[in-house]
This record gives sequence, C-alpha cells and structure tokens, in this order.
Amino acid sequence: MTNKLKYFVGNWKMFGDFNSFQIIKRIAFDYQRIKAINKKNKIIICIPSVLIAFFNSKLRSKSLLLGAQNCSQHKDYGPYTGSISATMLRKAGAEYVILGHSENRLEGETNNLIKKKIISAQDQNLSIILCIGETLSDKNKKRTFAVLKKQIISSIDNKSDFKKIIIAYEPVWSVGTGRVPDSHELKKTFIFIKKLLKAKFKIKIKPSVIYGGSVNDGNIKKFSLIDEIDGFLIGGASQSSKKFIDIIKNYYK
Ligand code: PEP
Repeated sequence: MTNKLKYFVGNWKMFGDFNSFQIIKRIAFDYQRIKAINKKNKIIICIPSVLIAFFNSKLRSKSLLLGAQNCSQHKDYGPYTGSISATMLRKAGAEYVILGHSENRLEGETNNLIKKKIISAQDQNLSIILCIGETLSDKNKKRTFAVLKKQIISSIDNKSDFKKIIIAYEPVWSVGTGRVPDSHELKKTFIFIKKLLKAKFKIKIKPSVIYGGSVNDGNIKKFSLIDEIDGFLIGGASQSSKKFIDIIKNYYK
C-alpha cells in the first residue's frame, strides 16, 4: 500500500433531502476518528444540486468536500429552463462536479457535450470527475480500450487543467449491478488510461484515475492491492454513512 493521495468520492445520484445532512455529519465525524490509520485522503460527496447550499451552510468539517453530479454546458445565466450552470454550483458551495456519468450518457449525453461542460466547469474553478467506461457489449467485442480512448480524446480539451481533472473509470456493466472487473484486467485498464493521458496531453503531473462500479466494504480490499487505482467513486454505498466509512476502513486494513 502506498502513501499516495487517495480519493473516496460518493455519488448520491437521485437521493436525499435536508434531513440527509445527518449522513454527511456522520461521515465527517467517523472519518476524523479513523484518520489515525490513513495517510492522505480526499473525501468528496456529490449530492443533488438542490442540497448543496443547505449542506454547505451546515458543514463544519474541512475533511469533507461537496460536489455536484452534472452541470449545464452554458455559462452563468441564460434562457435554459431547468438547467444549472457551473457558476450556480460554485456559488452554492460545490467544489467538484461529476461529468459524463454513464447514467447521463445513456440519456443521450455525448462526448462533445461533455467537452463543453468540462470547459464551463473549469472556467468556474470546479474540479471535474470525468466518468468513462465501456458497455458490456463493448467489452464482449473487445472494444474496451478503443471506447475509453475515444471518450478521453473527444471530451477533454488540450488546454484542460489536469490538476483539476480526476478520471473515473466506471465500466457501465458494473455500475449498480454488483459485478466488478477482474483485478488483472482492471490493472491493465488503469495502466492503459494513464499512459494514454500522458501521451496525448503531454501532462507533467501524474493523472488521478479512480475506479467506480459496485464498490462495497467486501470488495474494497481486492481493489486496494492495485497500486494504479488512485481512489473510488462510490454510488449506492455512499448513501449510508456506515457503508461508506466501512469502505475506507477496510481499504486500509
Ligand atoms: C456510480 O453511481 O458512479 C456508481 C459507481 O454506482 P454504484 O457504486 O452503485 O455501482
């Protein structure tokens, strides 16, 4: 196990109300108590936009950061009914935003649209968690690397600030299904993504790449053995403070 910075990112999806702040409070409290065992972690919980300002006004802990789950490609304000811009998220207190989640790609979000959203979010100094991943059909056709390459190249601008982009590799067939990739394959995929980022964008820093897809307190140990994984995007299990904290605890066990 290395001493590198690790990300534990929660994605609440369409979940929560004002009372759910109790979950955030509990995560922050319990995390402080396990801090002795860990090295460097970033804990980020991505919540529905309607909760960001309220949670931000209540949050006293500096060890937990808030993120959003999507944003408009349009800047600031304008005639886009129902849309929320990166400016609005930033003002509400978000520091991160998930973009390109497979659940949004399934609704028609394209790489080109995601690229515009990344530019808009970076303009507002939001850090990006960019989701990429192959479908089961891509995997069966052995097209995983080709799909990931296309998603990365078509959605990230050459001028992007890589200090503020985390890539989340989330195989679509693993999100919310209980199925996870084989460790050997996962390691190879992480090496591929990192090499591609370095070669294509000529970045000097080490890119951060995290894994997402059915992570839980039972399977986290096997992921902890893969050195190339810089953290986790945790969906369903992040809606429970106990499950989320147990994942962090077991990672370091
Ligand atoms: C996600 O929503 O990004 C995710 C990985 O979900 P789950 O952990 O529930 O598979």
